[in-house]
Amino acid sequence: MCSAALSGTEAGRKAPIRIQEKQCRSILTASRLPGGGYSANPYTGCEHACRYCYASYMSKFSGHTERWGTYVDVKQWESAGRLERLRDKPVFLSSVTDPYQPAETVYGRTRALLEELAPSGCRLSVVTKSDLAVRDLDLISQFPDAVVAWSVNTLDEEFRQDMDAAASIGSRLEAMRAFHEAGVRTACFAAPIFPGITDLEALFEALRGRADEVWLDRLNLRGPSRQVILRYIREKWPGLLPLYEAIYLEGDPVYWAQLDRVVSRLEGRLPFKLRSFIGHRGAGG
Ligand code: SF4
Repeated sequence: MCSAALSGTEAGRKAPIRIQEKQCRSILTASRLPGGGYSANPYTGCEHACRYCYASYMSKFSGHTERWGTYVDVKQWESAGRLERLRDKPVFLSSVTDPYQPAETVYGRTRALLEELAPSGCRLSVVTKSDLAVRDLDLISQFPDAVVAWSVNTLDEEFRQDMDAAASIGSRLEAMRAFHEAGVRTACFAAPIFPGITDLEALFEALRGRADEVWLDRLNLRGPSRQVILRYIREKWPGLLPLYEAIYLEGDPVYWAQLDRVVSRLEGRLPFKLRSFIGHRGAGG
């Protein structure tokens, strides 16, 4: 993707999606993270086409030359392998795509995988921007100590629509409530936090009675997404441009340090656990 043209994530929002089925050797990938476990991606590519997507760089590993957000490979696999090896192990769904993107309504690969894994005793975690997860509430509630997280970084529906082609904020919050009320552990992945746009205190209010945990992470801008987001800020939020340039072009750490202190002060006064990565500097700000 080059900065002279629309990036994949921008263009992908309006482009038709090319969907093909692909056989894969193994659906579970051993995790290199501390604690081990596995991740699974029933799809390659993602229709949600978020402008800031960190996973868009995966195109080069899947042989796709199309723009991110314009293709989806639907994975087919023989079996997840011996289930005994998964007992008490974390299994993360999905690490580089959304397991509940629109293709799931047709192909059902995420549901098929959950049906296969349900007897394993693995510790399931799911992250999504869709309310389609509610369809699988019966199945997910069979996993011991499962956690389902929805990415929500704003209550501003217009900004949300500028950023992704996924479910509305209202439907994500309603899905979160359905799981919470059914006794399944829920989380809000409040990420990426957009400086000056994400209103954490308003979001925390909306999460009362819905979330058991809130995970926080800052907006990091890597590769082509830096140009995409800075151009968007220049066009839609020009008053914030000096702040974004300070953070993302000059590496100014002050905004994140202040936000980190605000979050630390709030910790313990909210009806959910906070897990903040704001203080951990990622690539690009
Ligand atoms: S939902 Fe996740 S994987 Fe899909 S485009 Fe958005 S950030 Fe990327």
